[in-house]
Amino acid sequence: MEKIASFQVDHLRLLPGVYVSRKDKFGGTVLTTFDLRFKQPNQEPVIDMPALHTLEHLGATFLRSHKTWSPRVVYFGPMGCRTGFYVILEGDLDSTAVLPLLRELLDWIIAFDGPIPGAAPGECGNYSEQNLNMARWEAKRYAGLLKNPGPERLNYPG
Ligand SMILES: [Zn+2]
Repeated sequence: MEKIASFQVDHLRLLPGVYVSRKDKFGGTVLTTFDLRFKQPNQEPVIDMPALHTLEHLGATFLRSHKTWSPRVVYFGPMGCRTGFYVILEGDLDSTAVLPLLRELLDWIIAFDGPIPGAAPGECGNYSEQNLNMARWEAKRYAGLLKNPGPERLNYPG
């Protein structure tokens, strides 16, 4: 089997940031997959499982309820390596185009205080594994990295 595109990115030179992971064309529609990289691969601890799960629930809820972006949200979910998330949006987009949306998402998570959406046995496969405090902490840290990002946090290392 061929090595897929996302394994060809040099993860040893990858910083936390926002990257276009791929663009796929379906008929006249382009879907852009973003790599929301919270952690520097293989250089720092990954997001712990309960926080990752809470970020998934909150992120999906926010994006699918967003007043302008929700019709363009195809998917949001965690990376198996726990260093970040993928979001797939309709449209031919670049990283700077989604920074305002991501900042809005992170600010919402940082301020979130209430029952975690979907954290109930009838709504989730492992509902009690959640950590809102750590999810907020991770969102805050990532938001700090995205405050004024240089090109090295917006484009994959060439
Ligand atoms: Zn869940």
